[in-house]
Amino acid sequence: MANPSILILPGDGIGPEVMAEVRKIITWFGDKRDLKFNVSEDLVGGAAYDAHGVPLTDETMAKAQAADAVLLGAVGGPKYDKLDFSVKPERGLLRLRKEMDLFSNLRPAQCFDALADFSSLKKDIVAGLDIMIVRELTSGVYFGEPRGISPDNEGGRVGINTQRYTTEEIRRVARSAFELAKRRGNKVCSMEKANVMESGILWREEVQWVHDNEYPEVELSHMYADAGAMQLVRWPKQFDVIVTDNLFGDLLSDCAAMLTGSLGMLPSASLGAPMANGRPKALYEPVHGSAPDIAGQGKANPIACVLSFAMALRYSFDQGAEADRLEQAVEAVLADGVRTADLMGPEGGTPVSTGAMGDAIVKALDASL
Ligand code: NAD
Repeated sequence: MANPSILILPGDGIGPEVMAEVRKIITWFGDKRDLKFNVSEDLVGGAAYDAHGVPLTDETMAKAQAADAVLLGAVGGPKYDKLDFSVKPERGLLRLRKEMDLFSNLRPAQCFDALADFSSLKKDIVAGLDIMIVRELTSGVYFGEPRGISPDNEGGRVGINTQRYTTEEIRRVARSAFELAKRRGNKVCSMEKANVMESGILWREEVQWVHDNEYPEVELSHMYADAGAMQLVRWPKQFDVIVTDNLFGDLLSDCAAMLTGSLGMLPSASLGAPMANGRPKALYEPVHGSAPDIAGQGKANPIACVLSFAMALRYSFDQGAEADRLEQAVEAVLADGVRTADLMGPEGGTPVSTGAMGDAIVKALDASL
């Protein structure tokens, strides 16, 4: 059988720098674990605009549709701020998400013990934390019609957005949360505002339906999203997988992610429907942007991008044990006190470069054999 394919889209700013470290790790898995990938690379964002006048060409879009997984660095930068909205770098990313129909956005909040002091919460509340927020990504209030700003009858204006969810939109994201939970702690907490929103009542009923009919073995609970926000900062370790809509997921995933400290540590995955080979359409990317303030200086932390590749190993390539190996290598490096500049605490020390962090992770992988 052909090796699985990965399309790498490094993008702009620190994107190519952090992706170069992921390349080292992909090579390591090929050489040392006989896990070979057919890797190709292309342009997205400002880099694509510079070369082709658009942030994503049709050819690259077609390659992304055909790939078993897409790994993206980051897009954007001040150079492109004045471009027309239609060709801004971010449009390239939005086009990927939309045309691949990536409805399930996975944002882990995982706290490495060595970084527990970075959290704004007490160490014992976050040490060892490992939760996953599943956010519905392609529907809800960010997309619902009617929307817009128009004059009202009193000489003022009215702004309208519509929260709209269908049965199938809720069921498919619920399924992806239950599937995830089965590979983790077997618990899902669904969050909405069923107390004040009809779309929330439908959400709760449909998630319960998927549970009762398809995943009765997974533990399911429901929580109002505002209570959920409180519980996330009070005692986050009570959760395993949280599934929620686009708007609440936007807020709750940022909140949960920040429980763990630095932006340079946060990976994400966006998954769609299964392809003919059974793998889901998938885009993996760090949560951070292109960090123009540090681009080209070898200061970027590549761990968010490396952990995004670990997610690809787990969710696209069914290599959970190898994903664990990579995450443990990152943990070992951090435990050794290796830090990029963004991970330096008040006690100071000498930060390592992006490349040195990548090399240290490869060395820790070697040590894991
Ligand atoms: P940003 O995430 O790029 O940077 C925020 C801060 O975090 C900066 O100080 C940066 O130096 C630091 N930082 C981010 N990633 C880091 C890493 N890996 N290692 C060390 N430090 C890191 O957000 P921003 O400054 O608001 O946006 C910069 C550009 O990125 C903008 O053009 C924005 O539109 C774009 N952006 C893109 C994405 C994406 O591609 N998914 C996401 C967010 C922002």
